[in-house]
Amino acid sequence: MPGLNKQILIAACLGVLIGWLVGGQPADSSLREGVLYASSLVGSIFVGMLRMILIPLIFSSIVVGIANLQAHHQVGRVWKVTLTYFVITLSLAMLVALIAANIFKPGSGLSVNLFADAMDAFEASQLSVPEFFLHFFANLFQNPFAALANGSILAVVVFAMFMGIALVAGGERYRSILNVFQEFLELMLQMVGWIMRLAPYGILALLIGLVAGQDAALLMTMLGFVVLVFATTLFHGVVVLPGILYSVTGKSPLWFWRGSREALITAFATSSSAATLPITLRCAEHNLKVRRSVAGFVLPLGATMNMDGTALYEAAAALFVANLVGIELSLTQQMIVFFTAMIASTGAPGIPSSGMVTMVMVLQAVGLPAEAIAILLPIDRLLDTVRTAVNVEGDMVGSLVVDKFAGGEEVVSGSDANVSDEKA
Ligand code: ASP
Repeated sequence: MPGLNKQILIAACLGVLIGWLVGGQPADSSLREGVLYASSLVGSIFVGMLRMILIPLIFSSIVVGIANLQAHHQVGRVWKVTLTYFVITLSLAMLVALIAANIFKPGSGLSVNLFADAMDAFEASQLSVPEFFLHFFANLFQNPFAALANGSILAVVVFAMFMGIALVAGGERYRSILNVFQEFLELMLQMVGWIMRLAPYGILALLIGLVAGQDAALLMTMLGFVVLVFATTLFHGVVVLPGILYSVTGKSPLWFWRGSREALITAFATSSSAATLPITLRCAEHNLKVRRSVAGFVLPLGATMNMDGTALYEAAAALFVANLVGIELSLTQQMIVFFTAMIASTGAPGIPSSGMVTMVMVLQAVGLPAEAIAILLPIDRLLDTVRTAVNVEGDMVGSLVVDKFAGGEEVVSGSDANVSDEKA
């Protein structure tokens, strides 16, 4: 029996193959219906299990992670490196998109009339940049029980950080509470290990449904754009991020991909950075040997804030829509696209197609019709696969970079800690 890592790879290949075969069957064939039903059942059970564990896992991992970093006076440093890394990689992703879209001009050969019906029938929800900020900051601070129950990841992150810092500030007094959280985290990780054993089946099922559900004719119409998005996203994932990883940590890209493969394939199949997070955390800690305190902070934050693939996509898609409606965006307008796409990707939650929702803001910022996203929605499930995988890759590279900059050795050997380092 091959190891889990190999099983997941085999399942992904099989899923694409079976999905392609099933997609070729007539729409009313009972075989097709049966396979699609079974795959959507298994796929939703798998994603449901990941979601089930997500909130208790990130809550405990942030409380424990931040408490450990705080005990070693490292929270400030980790914050700074994490945010700097997020901004640099998001900017690089959007630069790649803008340069490629200016060279290849996707959408310029297409006529917007082709999509008139879709655009007419679509009503985009409107959210301007100031409204977005208001919404974003207001949502950071919430009743923790409501945030936990609603799965508001950022609000959970914020409350858990406060709590982690307070636990250390209180010293010995809160030691037993911190121990409880540490044990609770162990318990959650044990459950993640069990759920991961089901990953090959979940991924097989999700990919069958995804591939069988593609509309080949529509894809051919928009082929130029689809290829551009895939190629630039892959460029970022295969050249830019591994380049940063190698130059900062000296780790080889092959070593990184081997260690992160389970998370990357899960992200591809689920199109959700949030649902993938339990597996991302496990891969970072077990395979890539990132300290749990760093992984537990950088990865949950990255899963909602650091979305290189989404930022890249939003910038490319804005230029695609501009070409489609025959508007040439000036350099200033492209700068506006750059900044709003950065904000929009940061605010997109790590769930399928959330980038589409926040993209309305990017289009509006440069006066493009928000309804144009109706054109992009039908192909979004496909494009979301690679961009989510690159979103997760960016977070994992980030955890390695932060681990390196935040001085791993110091923490392990720190003697003034009132919290034992969990890696020992
Ligand atoms: N699905 C992406 C993610 O979860 C977000 C997006 O729609 O771009 O990372």
